[in-house]
Amino acid sequence: MQPGVITYGGFLGTDKRDFTQIIADDEKTLENAGKTAEEIANRLEYFQQLSFDAFETSTVVEDKYEVETEVVRGYLPCPFNHQGIYRKSYTTITNLNSGKSFIFSALNIHLIRAHHFFEGKKSHFRLEPDELARELF
Ligand SMILES: [Zn+2]
Repeated sequence: MQPGVITYGGFLGTDKRDFTQIIADDEKTLENAGKTAEEIANRLEYFQQLSFDAFETSTVVEDKYEVETEVVRGYLPCPFNHQGIYRKSYTTITNLNSGKSFIFSALNIHLIRAHHFFEGKKSHFRLEPDELARELF
């Protein structure tokens, strides 16, 4: 991955850091939380798949998480000059014990797995790696 190839400013939000710095900082945070980007991506994909299976209704997973996915027409491209396009679907996971919710798209899973990118602060789909590590395992 080369610096400067990100194509959509919207992924950075109001973050003034270069995206390579955002990724480096989030990797440090994840390391402190004892999780890898791969583990987080796998976990998000697991929840997303279960909610696809439930089809347009919410489902409770592991007696602790409520999961729902809204599928929208169209696809989202990866902003890192990648070939991939990702289904436009928005999954909401709520940890029923803490009340904490996360919303993410299929593209977020790819960005985390392939690029270790959780997006910039205040971007619409920013996910805090330490919160994911704490709330979803
Ligand atoms: Zn990509």
